[in-house]
Amino acid sequence: MQTVSLPQAGGCVCGALRYALGASPLLAYACHCHDCQKRTGAAFTLTLVIRSGDLTVSGSVDRVPRAAQSGRQVEHGFCPACRVPVFSRAPVAPDYMSLRAGTLDDARWVVPVAQTFVESAIPWAVIAGVRAVEWAHFDFTALGRDWLATAPAFRPREADAP
Ligand SMILES: [Zn+2]
Ligand SMILES: [Zn+2]
Repeated sequence: MQTVSLPQAGGCVCGALRYALGASPLLAYACHCHDCQKRTGAAFTLTLVIRSGDLTVSGSVDRVPRAAQSGRQVEHGFCPACRVPVFSRAPVAPDYMSLRAGTLDDARWVVPVAQTFVESAIPWAVIAGVRAVEWAHFDFTALGRDWLATAPAFRPREADAP
């Protein structure tokens, strides 16, 4: 089984905003909604759902509130220098955050368990073999269980020998 060491480091493209993810994420999924497409200029976003307390951010963050396509309010965290959106959080669920998986220094281990807003996907970008789940039926708890069943093993990085 693949092993991923913790913490996992990442950040924006200019390096002014850095973070360390100290624990296993709860879930990885892809979102094809128009907001995600416009915000990133890409076909879809790849998101890790994490516990807010597991992310240690260094550098400054611009927090910008926006209404999401789903209707709920979401606060986005940007690098103030290069404007890369690194994470977001819904004020109704402050204990959880969405981390843009592409901002990890090494995101090779991130495999989505589901994809949503497939109705607005660029047709070729629908990911073969990944379950499509309507946002209205997106059950974070159940999908998290499924994701953890196939996720890599997360292990704290060994302390350097003296
Ligand atoms: Zn930056
Ligand atoms: Zn989206």
